Order: sequence, then structure tokens, then C-alpha cells
Amino acid sequence: MGDRYVMIFEPDLCIGCNACAVECRRYNALSESGHFRTRVEPTETGTFPNVVMMHVRHSWAHCDNAVCINSCPTGATFRAENGFVLITKDKCIGCGACVDECPLEARRLVQEGSEVKADKCTWCYSRVHEGKSPVCVSRCITGALKFGKTSDPVIQEILSRPGTEAYHPEFKTKPQLYHTPLRARRNDLPVIRSAMVPGVPTTSIDGARG
Ligand code: SF4
Ligand code: SF4
Repeated sequence: MGDRYVMIFEPDLCIGCNACAVECRRYNALSESGHFRTRVEPTETGTFPNVVMMHVRHSWAHCDNAVCINSCPTGATFRAENGFVLITKDKCIGCGACVDECPLEARRLVQEGSEVKADKCTWCYSRVHEGKSPVCVSRCITGALKFGKTSDPVIQEILSRPGTEAYHPEFKTKPQLYHTPLRARRNDLPVIRSAMVPGVPTTSIDGARG
């Protein structure tokens, strides 16, 4: 696929505030209890006692090889321009075939009025076509989320960094959601204390990010 949109998560910059998830829920009026299209969760990595915690953001990938499209019997799930994978709700019969087929567990069935429909992240399609970012990206207070086309030099630079990779490449669906390296963050107390002193150079804060 040529020039298309991608989303990138930088775990080094994420503080786990979940503002992205809450804003998504508000903007998309996801009223069903516990229904989120994205979530940021504390995740343990390593082997005890050498374990670290980091924030890992789970969201959905608008895959190049989107198996949900082929599984949909009605054509409700389709590929829009610039890589978006969307659902025409009027055509959705709530059969759940796409939910079962998606190895990234990116979809779920939800009650919408008297009907059951498939639901997923749209990357805020209408906002993007107005020249805005998805709400999660615009609400992230640390800049941990990036969104743009593969032709964008900023996106190209991040994608070319060593260790940047797509989520779940093992599923072969070519997800277009990427993350920079998931690694232990330096959080030693002296660095954090020095970063909290008013007027301290930002190099200390950068040091805390490892
Ligand atoms: S739940 Fe809807 S979108 Fe999913 S496969 Fe069935 S008809 Fe298509
Ligand atoms: S808004 Fe940004 S910093 Fe906060 S949890 Fe989401 S990605 Fe992380």
C-alpha cells in the first residue's frame, strides 16, 4: 500500500494518565460500561527480580492485510482511502464474524439501540478529513502519540529508528500501529528528585526518560 496513515506510540513518553482513552470514550459517546476503543495499562516485563513496569497502550491497527474485511458477509467492513478500515453501521448485521477473525482483538459487538453492531476505532476518520488529529493524539499531554502519513518526514524518522516495530507482526495482518522500543525506563530517585527542583535544566528530565 502506498502513502497511508499510521499511528505511533512512544512508551518512553507515556505517563499512563489514560487521557487518550477517556477522551476517545467521551468523543465517540461510548456509553456502554467498560467500553473503550483504546486503553493504557501498566505492564510488567522482565524476569523476577529484574522486572520493570511500563505503560503499554493498546489500540487498533487499520491493518494493510485486514482479515476482518474478507470475513464480513455484508460488505459492512471496508477499506476507505488512506488506509482506514471502517464499518458502515447500516450494513452491519452484528454476526460477529469480524470480531472472531481479528487476531488483535480490535473489535467487539455492542448494543446500539435495539440492535447489535460491530464497533472499532476509526482513527477519528471525520476529524482527520477536516485536517485534525484523532482525539487521542490531540489529547495526549506528553506527545506520546503520533499520527500521520508515511510520506511525512516526522513519521518516516520515527519509523526508521532502530527498535520501532508494528504491534503484533506475528499475526501477518500488517498492522499500521507502531511503537518505539518497549524498554525499561530509568527512574532512579536522584534523577527524579533533581527533575522536581524548580529551574532545574531539562537535561535531568531527559535523563529520567533514559
Ligand atoms: S459484525 Fe458487522 S462488520 Fe462484522 S462481519 Fe458481521 S456484518 Fe460485517
Ligand atoms: S494521553 Fe498520552 S501520556 Fe496519557 S496515557 Fe495516553 S498516550 Fe500515555
